[in-house]
Amino acid sequence: MCLQQGRACHCGRRMAYLSFRDNVLTPEILRNLYCPECSAQAQWDSATMVEDCGWILEYDMTGARFFMSQRGLGGDISPAFLFDEGYLSWQGFSPLDHEVNSALHQRLAPLIKENMTRYLELLKSEWLAHVAALKAAGWRKAQRA
Ligand SMILES: [Zn+2]
Repeated sequence: MCLQQGRACHCGRRMAYLSFRDNVLTPEILRNLYCPECSAQAQWDSATMVEDCGWILEYDMTGARFFMSQRGLGGDISPAFLFDEGYLSWQGFSPLDHEVNSALHQRLAPLIKENMTRYLELLKSEWLAHVAALKAAGWRKAQRA
């Protein structure tokens, strides 16, 4: 079970859905979240920040290392590690995957009664197309999909 949370960015114009692998970290560990429109306000620091397609996540690395060590997860913990390993990252592959997924299910829902096989096929193919588009756009987590 992973904690999930919606969070507004620094300027408040965009929303991101976050997930926390194994609940090791808490929402407070994400000090700041910048969308592509407000990321210019972030003072880039590779020791605490990771960038993904114009979004910047700033972590409290001291707090993160503390929580990680409590679970016996030590070693080389960088912002990229926290993000790429999913300890505090997008829910899915991008900030809005949660909404894209819900919208897709909603759009295809009428098919459930008509043709369940077709519904499942479309659900799968449209989701894969979405992931392929994210991958092509350069989203970090989609690169591993
Ligand atoms: Zn913003």
